[in-house]
Formats: sequence, structure tokens, C-alpha cells
Amino acid sequence: MHTFEFIRPKNPAQAIAVAAGAKTAQQGADIRFLAGGTTLIDLMKLNVETPAQLIDINRLGLDKIEATPDGGLKIGATVRNSDLAYHEKVRRDYSVLSQALLAGASAQLRNMATTAGNLLQRTRCVYFRDTAMACNKREPGTGCSAIGGSNRTLAILGASEHCIATNPSDMCVALATLEATIHVQGKNGSRAVPIGDFHLLPGNTPQRETVLEPGDLVTHVTLPPPVAGSRQVYLKLRDRASYEFALASAAVVLSRAPGKVTRARIALGGVGTKPWRSPEAESVLVGQPANDATFRKAAEAALRDAKPQSENAFKVELARRCLTHALEMATTG
Ligand SMILES: Cc1cc2nc3c(=O)[nH]c(=O)nc-3n(C[C@H](O)[C@H](O)[C@H](O)COP(=O)(O)OP(=O)(O)OC[C@H]3O[C@@H](n4cnc5c(N)ncnc54)[C@H](O)[C@@H]3O)c2cc1C
Repeated sequence: MHTFEFIRPKNPAQAIAVAAGAKTAQQGADIRFLAGGTTLIDLMKLNVETPAQLIDINRLGLDKIEATPDGGLKIGATVRNSDLAYHEKVRRDYSVLSQALLAGASAQLRNMATTAGNLLQRTRCVYFRDTAMACNKREPGTGCSAIGGSNRTLAILGASEHCIATNPSDMCVALATLEATIHVQGKNGSRAVPIGDFHLLPGNTPQRETVLEPGDLVTHVTLPPPVAGSRQVYLKLRDRASYEFALASAAVVLSRAPGKVTRARIALGGVGTKPWRSPEAESVLVGQPANDATFRKAAEAALRDAKPQSENAFKVELARRCLTHALEMATTG
């Protein structure tokens, strides 16, 4: 166990001032914010994360869910996943988010896990979590043990020759279809980042997972006003019915007029190196009748660029069926 300094600031400004000394925001960061700790503490016990300073952000007042003047929603960084999932407005107007959160982890974990922590959770790739193995994400330049190794659960979309780790979040897949915005504060001020730009593809720098700069604090997430009359579904397929990460999942937010789909927001989980929005599937759906043939075409389009690894070719068909079924669920009953 590495020793570290534990710091408990009183407000966001203090937290940002302490974090301003951070040298990197990437893997191996010397300063980390501590939210629910359900990812970070595990990784510290495994020596995958070894921060010298840990800044507790649980008492900064970032735990509120509020309506925004435009009719949207502002979700504080330390709002717990369960509080968000059961919030009345989320259940009613953003139900894909509620469904995705409740499909994740366990009740105990959801009671601790936070909005920002979920956004920034690390991959479950076993080679990333084992310091005896080569992993470009954990230790750049060492190689990727997962390519040709145990890769059944890993990515088929967005991978590179340096990293095939899956982004494990359910929540982020729903946020992609809701077109959420991530609000960040750092030593150079504040900025807003659309969810689609927040996570990065691995490319040749898999250690860099998001656009966060050293010391950046995620303060909150905003959702645009809900789309009236939309149907929302999150469907997650996994090895067991609960307490398991997705092998494939689909988030669907769909609007229809008689005879055709008028608006579609589609994202996949469990298959991409980042939460995987599919504009390809969306454009197949819009203007077409909401029937099985259209849904299958949309699923084909969503997986067209899939590149399976040695053990996970099954995910291509699984993800297609997952999306097709989610679309059926969103248009029946
Ligand atoms: C057994 C198990 C099963 C799980 N199953 C699922 C599942 O099925 N689906 C799923 O989606 N997730 C699952 N999870 C993951 C869980 O959702 C995450 O661990 C959780 O969301 C992380 O939130 P946290 O608040 O505990 O983050 P922490 O562990 O506190 O932090 C995670 C990372 O985020 C950074 N961070 C936190 N807050 C901020 C901030 N405001 N600004 C900048 N950086 C910040 C931390 O520094 C750290 O690097 C599972 C976890 C476990 C342990």
C-alpha cells in the first residue's frame, strides 16, 4: 500500500485550488478526487492507482438535482446513482437514465456510486487491473495482453492495436442518448463538454480516457428538456441477471408519428471502448416505419464497423439482437 495524503476541502474552489498542482489527468495521476470510492479504492488496493493526494469531494454541496430554467435537469457530481435513478423527474422524463442506473452494479454500490464517478469509472479489463500483466492503458508502451488473450468481454467497436478495453458504464450509454453535457471546473476556469466528446477513443494513447485536464473537477451534468412523447428503453444483456457488467446493451429514445419514426437517439454499451452513440442506426430509423425490418437494418448499421477479437465475435450478433429487441420494446405496448 502506497501512503497518500487525504484532503477534505470545504468547497469546490478549495478542491480545485488543491488539485491545481496535479501533473497529469491520465492513468497514474498523482492527485485524484474521491467520490463514492467504489472504483478508485479498489484500484488503489490493487496498486493500479497510486495517487499521492486524495481529495474528498463528498462535502462540497455538489449533491443536488435541480430543474434548469429551460426545463432540463442539473445533476450534481456527487448525486448518488440510487438517488438519481429514483428521482421523480428522472423516472418520468428521462426513464432511460433511471433504467440504465438500476441495471448497474448492486443496490449497495448504487447507494455509494456518484454521477461523476460513474462517468469516470475505469475499464474492467482484467489485464488493466493486474499489475503483473502488460497493459498500454495502465503502463504506456508495455503492450496489450488482451489482444490474443482473454478478451471475451472486451470491445468490438472503437478499439486500436494498443487497447481493446471496454467502457463499462451503463449510465453513460443512457446519457449519450439524452445528449447530456458535462460541466467541468479547473485552474483555467469552467467549460461544458457534450457527452459525445467527453470520452476518448484509445488510439495510440489509451491511458488518456477523457478530455479532462490535470486537476479538472466535474461539477455537474445537465440534460436538455425532455422530448415530449418519446419512448425510452435501456436493455442490458449479461452473463447473469444482476450485479454484472453488460456484454451488450442498448439505449433507445424514440419518437413516432403515425406510420414512421420521427426522431431516434441510439447508443450501445458493453461493446465499445467508449459509450457508443450510433448515428448510423439513427439515420436508418428516421422517416421509416417502426417495424422489424427497419429495426434489423438499424442494428446492421450500428454494428457495421465491428471488429471482433479472438473470443468475442458472438458480441456482434448479440449487440444486433439487443438493439433490435430494445427498439421493439420502445414501439410496442
Ligand atoms: C462489483 C462492482 C460491480 C459494478 N457493476 C457495474 C455495472 O453493472 N454497471 C456500471 O455502470 N457500473 C458498475 N460498477 C461501477 C460503478 O458504477 C462505479 O464504480 C461507480 O459509478 C463509480 O462511482 P464512485 O463515485 O464510487 O467513483 P470513485 O471510485 O470515487 O471515482 C472514480 C473515478 O472518478 C474520479 N472522480 C470522481 N468524481 C470526480 C469529479 N467530480 N471530478 C473529477 N474526477 C472525479 C475519481 O478520481 C476516480 O478516478 C460496478 C462496480 C463494482 C465494484
